[in-house]
Amino acid sequence: MSFDEEFQFAACRECQKCCKDIPTCILGFHTLSYLAEHGSKTENFHDSITGLIIYKVEKSALEAAAKAWHHWFGFNLLEKIVLPVKNGNGNGNGNEYEYEFVAISKSRGNCPFLSYSGCSLHAHKPFHCKIYPLLYLQHEYMIAPGCPLVDNPTDTNLVDMGVSLIQNYAIFCEKHRSQYHSLVIQLKNQYNLAIHHFKST
Ligand code: SF4
Ligand code: SF4
Repeated sequence: MSFDEEFQFAACRECQKCCKDIPTCILGFHTLSYLAEHGSKTENFHDSITGLIIYKVEKSALEAAAKAWHHWFGFNLLEKIVLPVKNGNGNGNGNEYEYEFVAISKSRGNCPFLSYSGCSLHAHKPFHCKIYPLLYLQHEYMIAPGCPLVDNPTDTNLVDMGVSLIQNYAIFCEKHRSQYHSLVIQLKNQYNLAIHHFKST
């Protein structure tokens, strides 16, 4: 399966359960470039985009962030998404570099991109949404509990499909990671996005 293909399981079209009560969803280059290009042309996107946030993550906290945001697969996928930038904290503790990611905020309500007909981002939906219900926890892949796909005989090979997508996505991100930061700046300036600092617990 290639990265560009729609990666949506049959049951999701009906279910949409995981588009309500959502975790923090990090947006990769594919979503950011789509929003930068289509955001101002699509009226409905404006409100959704202004609700996005920018997360700043110090280099030393990147692994914790990858685990918290389900971007840890035995390797750190966040590292592939963007190159670190100097933050001016030259305090010698190794945290003078940080990463910036655009994210959909964790919410107990509907995702801002959920439309009447499903995800308005379509194939450009965040990576976490593309591979869900596949999760990597405790050093192994598992299907998220409560997802009806667990018992759905038509959606087999979830793990194989997911692992292949993860590999393709990591290659895709690495190819574009030098471009990611300029898109963050563009969206930040255009939509006045709020900035949050990731704190590892
Ligand atoms: S991944 Fe599972 S829980 Fe989420 S929308 Fe699809 S079927 Fe529902
Ligand atoms: S981005 Fe799309 S698939 Fe992901 S939670 Fe929002 S509506 Fe659902």
